[in-house]
This record gives sequence, structure tokens and C-alpha cells, in this order.
Amino acid sequence: MPCIYPSQLNRYVKSLEKNRTQAKKQHTALAEKLIALHMDESPYQRIPSYNYDEVKKGIICVKCDSFIASTERLMIKCEACGYTESLDEAVLRSVEEFKLLFRER
Ligand SMILES: [Zn+2]
Repeated sequence: MPCIYPSQLNRYVKSLEKNRTQAKKQHTALAEKLIALHMDESPYQRIPSYNYDEVKKGIICVKCDSFIASTERLMIKCEACGYTESLDEAVLRSVEEFKLLFRER
């Protein structure tokens, strides 16, 4: 069967260690090529320009991206899709989004 039971695990790991092969020159060359081609920033990234003053402020529904209009005690409820979330989670999520958008603030 294509599965390993817990009782077979030690034996399986030993057989893997026994069958281990050395990295060949071509493996090393491939690894070096991949490292050389690594790019820190994607050339396909297209971020629109924005600034703090021009964006609408508020908490956005995690399910449908609508702005949340009101809160009920410790919960928020999206009027567009009905999704509810704890106020704490929504605020923490929004703080992370804010930090991502406005690192300088
Ligand atoms: Zn929603």
C-alpha cells in the first residue's frame, strides 16, 4: 500500500538513509543557477499609487471587502454579506492591513 504505518516509520527512515545518494555536479550547478536567478522583487508586481489622505478609512469585511458600517457590542456584522467577526479580530486584522499599506506611519 502507498502508506507508512507508525510502526514502520523507523524502518522506513533507516531505508531512506541507506539509499541516500551524494549530490552530483549537475545538482550543485542547478542549485547555484537557481540562487543566481533569485529576484527579491517580482517584475510582475503592479501596485497602484495611493496615499493616506485619499483612501477611505474603516474596517473592511474579510469575506466580501465591503466597509463595515456599524458594530454590535463585541462583534461586527457586515451588512452586505451578513458575515460576523469579533471586534478584536477585525481591529487586529485592520491594524495589520494598515501597517502593510502605510509602513511609514
Ligand atoms: Zn461582507
